[in-house]
Amino acid sequence: MKELLIATRNKGKVREIADILSPLGIKVTSLNDHPGMPDIVEDGQTFRANAAKKAVVIAQHAGVLVMGEDSGLEVDALGGRPGVYSARYSGENATDESNNDLLIKELSGVPVEKRTARYRCAMALADKDALIDVLEGSCEGLIATERRGTNGFGYDPLFYIPARQKTFGELDLSVKQTMSHRAVALRQFLLLLERYLVAHSG
Ligand code: IMP
Repeated sequence: MKELLIATRNKGKVREIADILSPLGIKVTSLNDHPGMPDIVEDGQTFRANAAKKAVVIAQHAGVLVMGEDSGLEVDALGGRPGVYSARYSGENATDESNNDLLIKELSGVPVEKRTARYRCAMALADKDALIDVLEGSCEGLIATERRGTNGFGYDPLFYIPARQKTFGELDLSVKQTMSHRAVALRQFLLLLERYLVAHSG
């Protein structure tokens, strides 16, 4: 069975990606299944650059097909921060909890109409020889003033979807999977991967 290695240790991301790729009938693994892979320094200025770097470096080391994924939150009232620094927003030892605390603090007093934000996701496909392509998805929302719900991960308890009147923390994963930045990117990635597998079969 063909393997796709997702170049992340984030279990929330792996769950969402493996779920959407399940119809392909390929073996989806992550860095948690491949000990000894190098740590990738995420020093790109864009999600695309970081996703491509993760895919290419891990594919060269592992010798299998790799998805590099980089994602994060852009908050308009913060000039687009935390952006590519979303995981480390509140410092080197940041946790989801400390990141959400800081976001609530930095946006205190900001009125609802100025709390606009979006999640962005870039996904790259690479094999051991080359970078195949990089695709992107985004999802618009508002930053709530306090956490709501325990589903998802990262900033999900604060990421409010006005059309649903709920945060991603409150919505079922099945709903997030229809509209998230990762789901939008994944739908294109699925087509790219299918084309690649057909071209490289046999
Ligand atoms: P990365 O591992 O450098 O791509 O870090 C991405 C960070 O962005 C995560 O640690 C989260 O803080 C945030 N993030 C990305 N996607 C999501 C999501 O779907 N929900 C909540 N937070 C997310």
